Amino acid sequence: MVKEYVVKGDVCHPGTTVVNDGMTIRQVIEQAGGMANGKAFKAVQIGGPSGTLLCEAQLDLPLDQKALAPFGMRRGDGVITVLDEDRCIVDAVRRFMEQTQTDFCGKCVSCREGTRRIVELMNALMQGILDDDGFAILFEIGEMISVTGYCALGKGVYSTLKNAYQFFPEEFEAHRKNACSLCAKETRPSIEPGHIPYERRRIVIDPAVCRGCSRCARSCHAEAISGVIKSPFVIDQTKCVKCFTCMELCAFGAIREEEIDG
Ligand code: SF4
Ligand code: SF4
Ligand code: SF4
Repeated sequence: MVKEYVVKGDVCHPGTTVVNDGMTIRQVIEQAGGMANGKAFKAVQIGGPSGTLLCEAQLDLPLDQKALAPFGMRRGDGVITVLDEDRCIVDAVRRFMEQTQTDFCGKCVSCREGTRRIVELMNALMQGILDDDGFAILFEIGEMISVTGYCALGKGVYSTLKNAYQFFPEEFEAHRKNACSLCAKETRPSIEPGHIPYERRRIVIDPAVCRGCSRCARSCHAEAISGVIKSPFVIDQTKCVKCFTCMELCAFGAIREEEIDG
């Protein structure tokens, strides 16, 4: 199945790119012109804040949900943010976590309050004032949301933080000592996660493509999808929390994210 992605960040030609079945993350980055300014690749965030952060070791994996599931991929909104060698990973994670505050619906307490606390702790870490207890709590909260979050958005939020620490522990340690050499020399603004803002997006079913199999309706925690078998199903926008679960499960590519005009 062909899918469109937006490639952002430190690539030569950011923008929309078409990803065919089986294409690797490395090939997608090369299709976007490769790394900009002659810098080396460092990491890539697949998806928004509920996506997952990957490093060089995963670049030859296909860009699909199944292949990336072992790395915490839970949802597949079509944005890829590429970071070069000079980007501070702690700052990048902080920005992704900040984005949850405008990108998530706030329906359940664990996700709403948990992500807010994570942002506070990440800001303290950036300033080098996060003590040992705070550092431990940061990961405990992430773990807690991944278990108790109501939908895939919340459940997926910990992957970015968890993977970043696993792949780049030395950068977290540098921040704990308020001695990040990357931040000291960085003059560029923080990387913008980039995604259609929560209030501007909706998830829709294309009636011309839907086969009426009901798989999406059975998977929707918000009970926002209804329909009659073998006829097009519809999403009730007043109930949908925009978690992307149905989009990932539809075998026919009938569900897409779209930006609301204005
Ligand atoms: S419904 Fe999903 S996005 Fe909304 S607060 Fe709960 S876990 Fe977060
Ligand atoms: S899973 Fe896809 S094909 Fe099946 S009912 Fe939902 S939108 Fe239609
Ligand atoms: S309709 Fe889809 S995106 Fe909306 S809440 Fe249900 S599963 Fe999530």
